[in-house]
Amino acid sequence: MSNSITTMIEVVGLKKSFGTHAVLRDISLEVPKGGVVALIGPSGSGKSTLLRTLNLLTLPDSGYIRVGASRIDFTAGQRMPRDRELAAFRARTGMVFQNFNLFPHMSAEANVMEGPVTVQRMKKPEARALARELLAKVGLADRAEAMPEQLSGGQKQRVAIARALAMKPDVMLFDEATSALDPERVAEVLAVMKQLATEGMTMLLVTHEMAFAREVADTVIFMRDGYVVESGPARQVIDHPAEEATRAFLSHFH
Ligand code: ADP
Ligand code: MG
Repeated sequence: MSNSITTMIEVVGLKKSFGTHAVLRDISLEVPKGGVVALIGPSGSGKSTLLRTLNLLTLPDSGYIRVGASRIDFTAGQRMPRDRELAAFRARTGMVFQNFNLFPHMSAEANVMEGPVTVQRMKKPEARALARELLAKVGLADRAEAMPEQLSGGQKQRVAIARALAMKPDVMLFDEATSALDPERVAEVLAVMKQLATEGMTMLLVTHEMAFAREVADTVIFMRDGYVVESGPARQVIDHPAEEATRAFLSHFH
């Protein structure tokens, strides 16, 4: 097993099937502390399922997952983790989805406060101050009172990022965070993600923004049909893919 100080995410032999459909077939990967890894690959290759297993929204059939100091082994013969272990594990990761998933009846500020208040029992004034600070960080200091329906897609996604950060996660997982946005709104969300990367946040992101992956990610992993086909330094994989399948996939983005 890897050094837990320098490796923030460690996945060994992860498998998941839905019925007879094997969606993750023996996935192993590592994300160093402060590292940014981009997952790319065609639709249906298992990228979302992989991120969801890291947040335990989907439980794998087998394999070992460690995030920071929290580890869970799903290998046959191990007992199923208890709910408290699952909750503690989940709190290590912040997840940002394609479709924002904000609470529609709550203001931007209330969305960001919700986790700290309900999960961490933070006092409301402290949670409000934290929410204001994080909304300012994502460029929304003046929209704290706004309801989600009053915000653009890019603004909603920045609230979602602030909400995830409020739980002080060790890692941030982004699942196509800009795919549902109007083209003119993509850059503002990528800018926030890039800033987080610069500040040393450990990030695993699924993206179709190849220029962003090439520039911001350290490592790019190309997945297809539940396998890691190719993995390496971002510029090497994107500019000079070793595998024909990677080359064929990337040709759609030129
Ligand atoms: P990607 O994010 O790379 O597009 P997904 O992880 O979403 O891929 O899906 C991989 C495959 O797993 C797809 O064929 C999808 O239909 C299937 N799948 C995902 N979630 C479920 C589920 N809850 N039940 C059944 N099949 C699923
Ligand atoms: Mg997906």
